[in-house]
Amino acid sequence: MTSDEITGPVPDGGAPDGPAPDGGAPDGGAPDGAYVDGNAAAGPLSEVFVGDVTSAVGRCAHCGRTAAMATARCYPHSHGLLLCCPGCSGILLRLVETDGQLRLDLHGVSFLTLTRP
Ligand SMILES: [Zn+2]
Repeated sequence: MTSDEITGPVPDGGAPDGPAPDGGAPDGGAPDGAYVDGNAAAGPLSEVFVGDVTSAVGRCAHCGRTAAMATARCYPHSHGLLLCCPGCSGILLRLVETDGQLRLDLHGVSFLTLTRP
């Protein structure tokens, strides 16, 4: 994966363009493969955030669903780590490590409420 894949254009309210090479939906939506719950993202996200982001409440920028990030669908091995909304399958968050750098795309979260550690 290149760093351009995470910074490419993303249409408002939608997932990135083009089919996902890992079997994702043709419209660029969430992958069709197996997922685990959002708690699986706690470890990787702890490298970026001080608190536990999976306990934070986020609002899906695509459908407006508001819930703890732990309730999201986690695809740990798809274009990095993806968290997808269980309501609309839109991508909430993407974390990619490239060349020793962590890139976090929060395009799909309109807000995130974190509890102070
Ligand atoms: Zn949604």
